Amino acid sequence: MEKYDVVIIGSGPGGYVCAIRCAQLGMKTALIEKYNALGGTCLNVGCIPSKALLDSSEHFHKAKTDFTTHGIDLKDLKVNFKQMVQRKREVVEQTVGGIDYLMKKNKIDVLHGMGSFESANVIKITGDDSKETKVEAARVVIATGSKPGSLPFIKIDKKRVITSTEALELNELPKKLIVIGGGVIGLELGSVYARLGTEVTVVEYMDGIIPTMDSTMGKELTKSLKKLGMKFALSHKVKEVTNKGKTVLVKADDKKGTEVSFEADYCLVAVGRIPYTDKLGLENVGVKLDNRGRVEVNEQLQTNVPYIYAIGDVIKGAMLAHKAEEEGTFVAEVMNGEKPHIDYNLIPGVVYTWPEVAAVGKTEEQLKEAKVNYKVGSFPFKASGRARASMDTDGLIKVLANADTDEILGVHMCGPRAADMIAEAVVGMEFRATAEDISRMSHAHPTFTEAFREATLDATGKRAIHI
Ligand code: FAD
Ligand code: NAD
Repeated sequence: MEKYDVVIIGSGPGGYVCAIRCAQLGMKTALIEKYNALGGTCLNVGCIPSKALLDSSEHFHKAKTDFTTHGIDLKDLKVNFKQMVQRKREVVEQTVGGIDYLMKKNKIDVLHGMGSFESANVIKITGDDSKETKVEAARVVIATGSKPGSLPFIKIDKKRVITSTEALELNELPKKLIVIGGGVIGLELGSVYARLGTEVTVVEYMDGIIPTMDSTMGKELTKSLKKLGMKFALSHKVKEVTNKGKTVLVKADDKKGTEVSFEADYCLVAVGRIPYTDKLGLENVGVKLDNRGRVEVNEQLQTNVPYIYAIGDVIKGAMLAHKAEEEGTFVAEVMNGEKPHIDYNLIPGVVYTWPEVAAVGKTEEQLKEAKVNYKVGSFPFKASGRARASMDTDGLIKVLANADTDEILGVHMCGPRAADMIAEAVVGMEFRATAEDISRMSHAHPTFTEAFREATLDATGKRAIHI
């Protein structure tokens, strides 16, 4: 039996990054993946394919709505949806190929098949042909990620009632789409189809979209997505979803308890994801799960079995690729005897709609609840010259700073390129910048980043210049 210093189960952004860091630190490393393609949810059916379709659909939308104003006249503009999906597949293939290369470069053994704990330190790998291989591991990292969640009464048939995985691979452009869940997946994929001409209705249980983010962001984004033609049924409790052959019927109760029906050719269920621990054989080694089915870990991301660690979507915390990556590196360094650190408060969150939404640190609601004495600064993109030049004037940047010390506690952006701009806020907050610090730094003109500086000026005594 081959012996390894560390065996990692799952090749998503948590697992493959962990494998690379372990190899860099001189550990003999194996990576187990049940699919032929490496990269996990993120590369195959998550971040990368969704961003490919988001970019393609945004190009179409811009061409349709803004190009004439820019002085560009296009004739017979139409969507070639099959080509759009094909390009997405090629982007995924290239990205996945990059991970194969990185594994070879770092001399990591990749073992394809379902990994499971057979006994202490022995991992069994069962291939598609049921062939079994066993390896011995001094340490194991569980990085098995998550899978789409649903509601107890919904049958995901993958034909009409679909998850994000199928929504990334449709054969046709839906005429109508119902999205259950106004969270990240529902809004990203909903806006892909809305831009391409699909009539999209989002049915959300809470009274606003992206309900876990600062409420100003949900309100701003709603305005923009409504302009795109998306409809929102908020405070609606879905109670029945029926595949009627060529359509899907969704029944929900509105705020007053009145039954409302929606019919469309597809229904995307996007109500969250659940940790994936199926067939891992955790019971054979006694690894504990928490009350939400996640692998329980301590601050060192170590399970109750000391030589077994867990990272990424399969443990508590935000289900984000970059959070999984941080934890992959963290665990490799912990196993190497180092003392790394992750500040979970400073892991940014992004919604890749247009405008994009990006945030780091505390929301206004969290500061209120914690009774922190805070102040708010904000700046709208409609007052930005750069945004006017590119016709991207929706949204704003909001800065929350401690009213006594001026330290920035949270930054919330809804606007063009917010996904990239949030990095400045992360750097600032890592170094415990005050709003004054940012407001004294030169920001190139004209850029969208000037809006961040203006919002910090607004936070420090209403000194914004361009409004
Ligand atoms: P995963 O990426 O889920 O990887 C786990 C891997 O383990 C899988 O390949 C699985 O096949 C394998 N596996 C499971 N069990 C076994 C076993 N027993 N044996 C062998 N292999 C096994 N996050 C972002 O940060 N930004 C985004 O833009 C973003 N967009 C997303 C869009 C969509 C549509 C979805 C669904 C998710 C998106 N996410 C995004 C979330 C992101 O994909 C996850 O947070 C991330 O992939 C988690 O990484 P992970 O390594 O923990 O697990
Ligand atoms: P989510 O938690 O973001 O949103 C789920 C939404 O469904 C919430 O708004 C919730 O209120 C709503 N909901 C729950 N039950 C409902 C019901 N019965 N009826 C109507 N609405 C209901 O989950 P998601 O959008 O499925 O995404 C799953 C995970 O994937 C998220 O944790 C997210 O972090 C990750 N993800 C991240 C990105 C990104 O970083 N850009 C993109 C996609 C997915």
